[in-house]
Amino acid sequence: MSYILFTVDVEDWFQVENLRCRFPSDTWDSCEFRVERNTTVLLDLLERFHVSATFFVLGWIAERLPRLVKEIQARGHEVASHGYGHQLCYDISSSELRQDLYRSRTILENITGQPVRGYRAPSFSITGELMDLLKELGYRYDSSYNDFSLHDRYGRVDSIRRYMPNYGLNEKDGLVELPISNLKLGGKCIPWGGGGYFRLWPFWMFRQGVRHILRQQEYYLFYCHPWELDPDQPRVEGMRLDRRFRHYVNLSETAKRIENFLNDFRQHEFITCSEFLD
Ligand SMILES: [Zn+2]
Repeated sequence: MSYILFTVDVEDWFQVENLRCRFPSDTWDSCEFRVERNTTVLLDLLERFHVSATFFVLGWIAERLPRLVKEIQARGHEVASHGYGHQLCYDISSSELRQDLYRSRTILENITGQPVRGYRAPSFSITGELMDLLKELGYRYDSSYNDFSLHDRYGRVDSIRRYMPNYGLNEKDGLVELPISNLKLGGKCIPWGGGGYFRLWPFWMFRQGVRHILRQQEYYLFYCHPWELDPDQPRVEGMRLDRRFRHYVNLSETAKRIENFLNDFRQHEFITCSEFLD
C-alpha cells in the first residue's frame, strides 16, 4: 500500500521569503489578508475528493484568524505548526527559535484543544539545532527536510537519515523526519514535492514522476501554499528575476493542477502525517 501525504503551509502572500525585504514583519498587519479565502478554496477542493491533509499553520496567522484554524480542524484535517514569525531557522538564535516554536504551538493548541505533533520550518530551513529543540519540546515529527541541494535556502543536517522512518529508528527515540519527496533519476535529485516546481513541470510529467516515486517508496509527500491558488494576489515589482519567476509561474493553473492530482491518484490513500506515523 502506498500513501500520499498532502501538506499545506498556511501563510499569506506577503510572508514568503522571496518578499521578505519588501514586507518586513512589522508591515504585515497593513497588508491585504487573502489567506482565508485561498485556504477555503483548497479546503473545498480536498473535500470534493474526501482527502485528509496536514496543514502547517503559521502562528502569526492563527493568532489573527483562529476561525480559519477551527475550520481546518472541523473539516477533518491535521493542524500542525509552521512556526510563528516565518524567520529562517538558521537566521535566528537558539533562544529565539525555541520561543518561536513554543509560541506557535501554544497558539494552535489553545485554538484546537488538541496537541500539535508536527512542525515544518519556513523555506525548509532545517538545522541540527532545530531537531534538538523539537525533540526537547516534545514534537512527534518534523517535515522540513528537502534534499534538493540546488535551492539557495534549504537547510542541511548531516545526520538526518537517522530520524527517518525505515532507518532503524526506534519510535520511542522521539522525533521522526518526514522529508519532502523528490524524484531520483540517474543519480540526480529533481525537485518533485510541490511548490513552484509543481507549477512549473507539465502536469503529465509531474504525474509520471509521482508514480515513479510511489514505486520506490512507501509514500509521496506533497506541499503547497494557499497563495499559490491565487492569481489575483498583488504583484510586487522589482523582485530578482529568478525569484519573481518562482513566485508567480502558473498561479492561475494551480487549482486545476491540484484537482487533476487528487483525481488521478484517487486510488491511493491520502492520509495526514500523524495518521501515517501511527
Ligand atoms: Zn512558509
